[in-house]
Amino acid sequence: MINPVESFIDGRMVAPTTGTYTDKLDPRNGEKMGRVANSGAQDLDRAVAAAVKAFDAWRDMRPSERGRILIEMGRMIRNGIETFGALEGQETGKPKNQIPVVLNMTAQFFEFYGGITNVGDGEIIDQGPDYHVYTRRDPFGVVGVILPWNAPLHQAARAIAPALAAGNAVVAKPSEHSSASLVAFAKAAVEQCGLPVGVLNIIVGKGSDIGPAMANNPDVRKISFTGGVRAGRELGHIAAERILPLTLELGGKSANIVFDDADLDKAAKGSVTAFTLNSGQWCAAGSRLLVQRNIHDQFVEKLVAAVEQLTIGTAPDASLGPITTRAQFEKIQSYFEVARSEGLTPAIGGKVATGPGLDGGWFIEPTVYTGVTNDMAMAREEIFGPVLVVIPFEDEADAIRIANDSEYGLAAGVWSRDIGRVHRVAGRLEAGRIVVNEYSGGPVQAPCGGFKQSGYGREQGIEGLHHYTQSKSVIIRL
Ligand code: NAD
Repeated sequence: MINPVESFIDGRMVAPTTGTYTDKLDPRNGEKMGRVANSGAQDLDRAVAAAVKAFDAWRDMRPSERGRILIEMGRMIRNGIETFGALEGQETGKPKNQIPVVLNMTAQFFEFYGGITNVGDGEIIDQGPDYHVYTRRDPFGVVGVILPWNAPLHQAARAIAPALAAGNAVVAKPSEHSSASLVAFAKAAVEQCGLPVGVLNIIVGKGSDIGPAMANNPDVRKISFTGGVRAGRELGHIAAERILPLTLELGGKSANIVFDDADLDKAAKGSVTAFTLNSGQWCAAGSRLLVQRNIHDQFVEKLVAAVEQLTIGTAPDASLGPITTRAQFEKIQSYFEVARSEGLTPAIGGKVATGPGLDGGWFIEPTVYTGVTNDMAMAREEIFGPVLVVIPFEDEADAIRIANDSEYGLAAGVWSRDIGRVHRVAGRLEAGRIVVNEYSGGPVQAPCGGFKQSGYGREQGIEGLHHYTQSKSVIIRL
């Protein structure tokens, strides 16, 4: 772990003007691992000023040259999986074997957007021989990026790569719980990949200090926020005052629907991955499992058997590592109380994981509750941990009704061999990503984002690139 973790502004590591730091605790044992800067509004303003200074030259750089630098940043991640992976593993507690797949995808964001820096171009609009009318896409200027802790570099790349590709300069604020890997990455991008100084600045500090300062800084022209609904809403209030464009990637309580014609063995395994991947700290987790009633008992048996195969701990090949923050660890446990108060008993799990090597760490047993109805808090609230609720349904219409009866709409899973049903259901589900016969995150080329309280705007794909540009029409009288 880098110690202390401080901001990276205008090409330099910078101590916080507040002079204060917060201890960073190791999720694997609860012990102090280092200190993280509490940068404040003054530091933020300095980072924005650096980005403003760097913006013109970056925007005016030939797109293919910007792209080359981004592709170099992707290569740096691929070549540095050990180094960046170690940092990310230390700060999140992710088991070692799960890191390469996340970092490969991180690299892909830079490779993909680096390869299409000039794709966001406009169109020519025919107005007859006396006019030449066209549109073009311009960058915003300085883009603020606010990030959560669950997959630090991956989430950062998803926003930073398209923002930079479109010609913006960026001030990114990683979570105070997982800042080290992004600081190391930005520094290395300047030192090793030719990224001009000031184009990417990382500000390390608490969201309640930095978030409002970022949204209120008049030189910040767009913010991409990934995190919880509460903070997203607070940011939205400030943005409304300033008419500041926002992309909001928020939480979820995604339905994963298993029909009776599915391959039940595959569906059971996939449904376990859906709620335990990254120890359940996954915005798109399939945490609400809807199972057709006539296969419910048989399916739950398979599901529980698959959960029994999982391992918990710090081993490189553990299925579940610790929860990254103490607050989240405590929040998940509070939901065991909520479940009890709703009359639920777990089919498996339902407690803190204990055993050799787990002492002091923030480990939670993968947990399945059956007999849940969709009106219970356990079915409605995002838990963000390895906790699954199982809800029976009668038929296709019932499955769609229950799945859509949620404030959230981030993702959904469908398991069925009936291709007609798959398309019908995918068309009706209110969610930004539908995955069929597996449960995974989509490729970087496929847009993702939320319906309803899961947010607005889209990341990933060409649509994601467009969200970091604003279109302009040019009307020329010839
Ligand atoms: P969080 O909302 O607590 O924090 C996210 C970021 O916002 C952090 O950097 C934090 O410091 C900052 N922040 C906190 N208060 C703020 C404020 N008032 N104004 C501006 N910024 C503020 O979320 P978290 O606990 O870090 O992450 C978990 C949440 O993120 C879950 O709800 C999860 O579903 C969501 N998430 C969503 C996606 C997605 O793509 N939709 C991806 C990952 C995580």
